[in-house]
Order: sequence, then structure tokens, then C-alpha cells
Amino acid sequence: MIASLEVAKESAIAALRRGDSAVWRRPTPARDLITLADVDEARARFQRFEPILRQLFPQAGWDGRVRSQLLDYPQTGDMPALLVKADHDLPVTGSIKARGGVHELLCQVERIALAEGIAQEGDLTVLLGAEARSRFARHTLIVASTGNLGFSIGLLARAFGLGAEIHMSRDAKAWKKERLRALGARVVEHECDFSEAVERARVAASMKGPEAYFVDDESSRELMLGYAVAAYELAEQLAARDIVINAERPLFVYLPCGVGGAPGGVTFGLKQLFGRNAVCVFVEPTASASMFAALSQDPAHPVHVAELGLDNRTIADGLAVPRASPLALAVVGRMIDAVVAVNDEALLDKVRSAWRTAGLRLEPAAAAGFAAVTPWLRHLQQAAPAGPPSAWRNAVHVVWTTGGSLLPDHEFDALLVEKTG
Ligand SMILES: *Cc1c(COP(=O)(O)O)cnc(C)c1O
Repeated sequence: MIASLEVAKESAIAALRRGDSAVWRRPTPARDLITLADVDEARARFQRFEPILRQLFPQAGWDGRVRSQLLDYPQTGDMPALLVKADHDLPVTGSIKARGGVHELLCQVERIALAEGIAQEGDLTVLLGAEARSRFARHTLIVASTGNLGFSIGLLARAFGLGAEIHMSRDAKAWKKERLRALGARVVEHECDFSEAVERARVAASMKGPEAYFVDDESSRELMLGYAVAAYELAEQLAARDIVINAERPLFVYLPCGVGGAPGGVTFGLKQLFGRNAVCVFVEPTASASMFAALSQDPAHPVHVAELGLDNRTIADGLAVPRASPLALAVVGRMIDAVVAVNDEALLDKVRSAWRTAGLRLEPAAAAGFAAVTPWLRHLQQAAPAGPPSAWRNAVHVVWTTGGSLLPDHEFDALLVEKTG
């Protein structure tokens, strides 16, 4: 979307040079790229598809709702009381990508169903019929991923009978590729970083026909909207606990950040619901601090972390992103309250303590929120030497755990003993 705006500008100027007539039109302001009404629509879409998802994934008696629990975390050491938004345990795909990825996929299914003339007024079950499947089989979704997005898109696409071509950056774990292949997805392995894999996937998609659709992790509104719906869910869960968020009791949310779509979507939703009383802290691995880099430099032109001398090598494969999403920056860049960078050692340490103290099965990316709490609070303390305003001491802390419940035993066990570096 951002890219096509650039392209449109180029072609308009080419028209001027040719002496042709041309139109310049004011671009959509960033704040209008996504609205709360769009989030409501996404929420309704999830609800509409619940019976379909239930039928597609009958295992484990899933009700078809993409919803995670809000858990109490045992209080340890000098950490404040923490709540955990347990997206690591989301049904079917086991990561926060179940929100963005599933929503994107449902949008694509609707689009293809419309284009193929598969009736879908009211009764969506026609989408599961043999006729629909044979038409879906002509279409392919193409996406680049460090693992989890590809897994969610691939899993859902195959369930509907769509083709899936997943371009994996070098960070992707072997087990995620194997699972995708077992589902009948085509996995294309790249020895490059995520930003480059996105470009290669984009090129691959552009060389195919209209039956190929590129899911662009760096600029998809549908992905962000799927994540944003989670804000309503958290608001309901806080209300169910009689927790009222206001200026005296702000909500601190710790969100692991890769390209920024997932934490950006959640932040957009939370800011709509709680305004500035929701304080959104993005968390990145130090080696892949791409949002940190973009916000501290020029958010309009996000830099590659290599330009800052960072190598993008991290144990947190889900966050191994060297350049932040221009869409996330355009939509929520100004709403992000802080970015905390944490190193791999801290991530591993939190994977282990989350397992030992609470039995949470997290991948390193998903433990990032825990690692950010102490540095963030220390920063607040130092910024206000007389002691932090009471509002900070009363804050409700929500650590968003974003993936890991599907980690195979051998992968998870290795994390519990592995050394970093
Ligand atoms: C994708 C992912 C994130 C971050 O999402 P972005 O949209 O890339 O910022 C965080 N944690 C896990 C486990 C992920 O897979």
C-alpha cells in the first residue's frame, strides 16, 4: 500500500514530463489508514467465521473463537504483579499470528469467494463444500515469514484448500518448515534476512497470474486489523476482573515487536479504548531493534538495523526483523510510548523462569515482555529521581506472550539448557 503510493507518485510525474494531464490527490492521512470502525468490522468477521473455523479444525473441541486467556503470573523477586495475555496458547496456530494471519486469510477467502462467484450470503458453509474447494485450489497465497506468520497462513490456507507458498528467511526453524510441508504448503527457503525475503516473495508473486496473492507483512491492513481486535478482548477481561483503567491506574502493556504489525495493531486498538491511559511498550531483541532504530531516527524511512551496526542475529526468530513496517509506523508510530531492547540472554532467562514459575511454554520471542519490565520501570524511576508518580506504582502490567505452545519437546528442552551466542 505504501509502496503503491510511491509508484503512483512516480507515474504521475512521468505523465507531467510527457506533457499529459495528471491528478495529484492528497494521500490518506496515516491516522485514517485504520479506523475503529475497521476494527469492529474485523471483529464481526471473526465472529461470522467461528462456525467455519470450528468445522475446519474439529480437533480438541475448539469453539472457533480466536481468544486467549488473561492469566495471573506468580509474583517473583522485585517484579510488580503481572498479568499475562496468553497468546502463546492461542488455538490451532499457537502464536499471536492466529489473530493477524487468520484475519488476513478470512479476508482473502471472502475476496476469492466473491471473485469466483461462490455464493456466500448468510450461509458461509458453502465455503467448505467440494465445489468451493476445487475453485479455491486454483488460488495461491504467497507470504514471507520468519516462521509463525507462514505457519498460520499456510495452515489456514491449506484447510480451505488454497495453495500456499511460504518464503522463509534464514531465521526460520526447521520444524516450522516441516510442519508446513506436511500440510501441503510449498516452502521456499532463503539464505537472507526477513526484509529481503519479503522482497523476494513480492517478486515471486508479481511473476504469477491473478490467482496468486501476496500477503505483505510490511503493509497489510488486514493483518493489523486482526491484531487490533485483541484490544476489545483484553478490555473485556480487565472489566471482568473489576480492573478500571484511568489516569491513576494506567495500563502498561509489553508487546514483543518484529515488523511491528502485531504490537501495532494491538496498540491501535488499546489507544482507541483507553487513550493515553494505555501505555504501550514495544520490546525487541537488541540485535534486531528495528522499531527502536526507526523511531529514534526517521520514522518515515525506517532504517535497516545493519546501518546501525546491528547484525539481526537473535535467538528470537519471531522477532528477527531488520527493518520495521512502514504501515505500522504510519498508523501507530506516534502512539508507541516506548521501545525496550533486550538481549538474548535475558530472553532465554525469561523463557526458563516462565516455565519454572508458571508452566508457560514460550518461544524466546514470546518471553520478551517479561524481560522488558525491569528496564522500563528502572528507566521511569531514573527519569523521575524524586520517585515515580504514584500512577506508575499503581499501574496494571500486562505481558503479552506471543508464541510457543506448539514448540516440539526437543526444541523447548534445548532452550531450557542452551547457551546463547
Ligand atoms: C510475529 C511475532 C511477533 C511480532 O509480530 P510483528 O507483527 O512481526 O511485530 C511477536 N512474537 C511472535 C512469537 C511472533 O511470531
